[in-house]
Amino acid sequence: MRLSTTFVKTSRTAPKDETARGAQYLSRAGYVYKELAGIYDYLPLGLRVLDNIKGIIREELNKIGCQEVLLTTLQNPELWQKTDRWDPSKVDIWFKTELAAGGELGLAPTHEEPITNLMRSFITSYKDLPVAAYQFQTKFRNELRAKSGIMRTREFLMKDLYSFAATESDHNRFYHQVEQTYKAIYNRLGVGADTFQTFASGGVFSKYSHEFQTLTDVGEDTIYFNADKSVVLNEEVLNDEVLQDLGVKREELQSARAAEVGNIFTLGSKYSNPLGLLFTDQDGQRKDVIMGCYGIGVSRVMGVIAEKFSDDKGLVWPENIAPYKYYLIGIGERGTEVAEKLYRGNEDIVLLDDRDARPGEKFADSDLLGIPYRLVISDKTLADDTIEVTNRRDGQTTLQKINDFVLSKA
Ligand code: ATP
Ligand code: MG
Repeated sequence: MRLSTTFVKTSRTAPKDETARGAQYLSRAGYVYKELAGIYDYLPLGLRVLDNIKGIIREELNKIGCQEVLLTTLQNPELWQKTDRWDPSKVDIWFKTELAAGGELGLAPTHEEPITNLMRSFITSYKDLPVAAYQFQTKFRNELRAKSGIMRTREFLMKDLYSFAATESDHNRFYHQVEQTYKAIYNRLGVGADTFQTFASGGVFSKYSHEFQTLTDVGEDTIYFNADKSVVLNEEVLNDEVLQDLGVKREELQSARAAEVGNIFTLGSKYSNPLGLLFTDQDGQRKDVIMGCYGIGVSRVMGVIAEKFSDDKGLVWPENIAPYKYYLIGIGERGTEVAEKLYRGNEDIVLLDDRDARPGEKFADSDLLGIPYRLVISDKTLADDTIEVTNRRDGQTTLQKINDFVLSKA
C-alpha cells in the first residue's frame, strides 16, 4: 500500500476519553475510528490486523475439523423465549429492534439459540454426530460501561464455535482438543507466554468452565496463580472449597490483572433440551445432544495486543498480525527511485511511505504504526549499495547490501 493514496492520516492526539495507551495509539495511528463510546470503525490498516488474527484462528480451527458458517445477526424472540434469555430481567445487554410489519427482533449478543435450532434440521441420528461449527460474527451487547478502547465495546467481533456430540466422552475429547488449539492460537498471536487457562465458574459435567486470560494492566479481571503458574483461577471461584479441590492454599497465590480473551464452556443439554435438539442413539432412544461453546474475542484480542506490544513511540505489532511487514522510506531522488523499484511486486507486504513529507515525520509515523521493519534507502546508504533495516522491537539498525536484500513474507 502507498501511504500517499490512503485517506487515513495519523494524528498527534487521541479521543480525550481514551485513557489506555494501546487504545490511544490505535486511534492516533488510524487503525480504528471512534464513533461513540464503545462503538468503533475499523480502517484499512486496522482491518488488516483483524483479518490476520482471524486467519490464524481459522487455520487452527480447521485443523481440528471445525466448519465455518455465518449466521444472521437478527434474532427470533421465540427461540430465546424457550431458553428464558429474551426477557430483559434475565439478559440485560440486549439491543432489540422491530420489524416494519410488526414484531420484535433482537441483535445477537451470542448465537447458542439460533445454531442449536438450525442443527435440528441436520442432526437426527448418532450417525450425524459429532459436529463442530464456528463463525466470525459481530455481537451486539448493550454494555453499561465501555472500556479500554476496543477491549470492551457494544459491537464487537467474536469467533464463536459450537460443538455437538452424542456422548459425554466424545464431548470431552473435543473440549480437550479445543484447549490445545486455543493454546496454539494464542502462541501464534504472540501472547502465549502471558495467556493462562483459568478455572472459572459455570461448569456442567465438571465444576468449572475455563477462561483464557492474558496478563495486562488494563485488564478488567483479577486472576490468582501459584509460583509456577500450574494453577490459575478467576476471582469468582476463589473460595475454600475450590482451593481444596485444586490443592492450593490461599497464601500461596499471587494476583495479577488480566483480560479475558477467550472462554470455553461445556453446555451439556442446557440449550439442546429446551430447543428440542435430540438425536436417536444406537439403542433407538431419543437423547439430548451434548453441546459446548467456545469463544474468542477477536477485536478484544487486537486491543490486548496493542496494549501489551507498545512503547513510548507507538505500537509494536508481532510479525504474524502486523498489517504490513515493512515500512519503506526512500529519501532523495535516487533513494525514492530505488524504493519504488523494491516496492513493485511486494505491495502486499510493504507499506511505502511515498508522501510528500519530511523524513523525520515518516520515521515517527513508522514507529507509531508499529510495522516490524523500517527500511530506509537514501543517497547515503546507496553510496555503499546498502539499505538500512531497523527492527521496531529493539530499535536495532543494520545496513544490508541492497543486491542481497530479499523481502520475505514469512
Ligand atoms: P466479559 O466477562 O468480559 O463481559 P463474557 O464472559 O460476557 O465477557 P463471553 O460471552 O464469554 O464474554 O464472550 C466470549 C469472548 O468475547 C470473551 O472471552 C471476550 O474475549 C469477548 N467479549 C465479551 N464481551 C465483549 C465486549 N463487550 N467487547 C469486546 N469483546 C468482548
Ligand atoms: Mg466469558
